[in-house]
Amino acid sequence: MTPSAAAVRPINDMLQNPDYIELTYRLDASLGNHEYEDTIEKWTVTAHLGESFGLDRIPPCEDCTAKWQALYEADGFVDEGEECEHRLHVGTLEFYKVRWGGSQNPFWAMEEQSQNLYEMAEVIFSAEHDDYSEEFNEITEGGFGGSDVLVVYRVELTEAWRGFGLGPIMASDGIRRLSGGCCAVLIHPTPIDSHGMTHDEVQHARTRLQQTWEKVGFVPYGDGPYMIFATSWAAPEQKAVKLREELKDLSARWRASRR
Ligand SMILES: [Zn+2]
Repeated sequence: MTPSAAAVRPINDMLQNPDYIELTYRLDASLGNHEYEDTIEKWTVTAHLGESFGLDRIPPCEDCTAKWQALYEADGFVDEGEECEHRLHVGTLEFYKVRWGGSQNPFWAMEEQSQNLYEMAEVIFSAEHDDYSEEFNEITEGGFGGSDVLVVYRVELTEAWRGFGLGPIMASDGIRRLSGGCCAVLIHPTPIDSHGMTHDEVQHARTRLQQTWEKVGFVPYGDGPYMIFATSWAAPEQKAVKLREELKDLSARWRASRR
């Protein structure tokens, strides 16, 4: 669900100045509210470089190169208009905003959306599903920051952009924009694909991810696998400022490495 990101990769490997990364926010909703979008909002955030950066400096992806090669072999030329937009892609983030007062109960909305959200709903709502659990209300100080919840569902960077610590910086931007009206933000820090990993490797990856998400302001939620922060806390905002400084620092180091 989240990248095993740690800023361990040499800055020289970074394709472009990270300061140029753009984020596009998209909410899918039907006017007829067919998927109960008034209760559960799915936000997709695409991180990408603007067209003015990269297209001439970043090599095209393997798929496009193969496609052009095939076109060239068949026709003897490749149309000048052919472009590889994939090389501009940095990553994708997914958020769910779960709201009270819509046409569906928030617990059931999460249950219907996915197994992962259902499991999370089980630990944040009361047994009657008409309120949050006591534990949750204690942490969020009775919903001081609002009544809704934001879930950071997926943070996935392309291989080229992993290992620089960009995941939390991007997630922090998303949280700032999408957490209005929310009392808490939740995340399940677990590797996106633990296929072929041993139990110890999965545990190790989880610990690393927990440390990564602490940088955004998350703390463990009870004894379970989730992490949480209440929007009424001061710490997440201070950490967001620090993450923005980290981006500036990365950008400066990138520029210095290209001199
Ligand atoms: Zn491509």
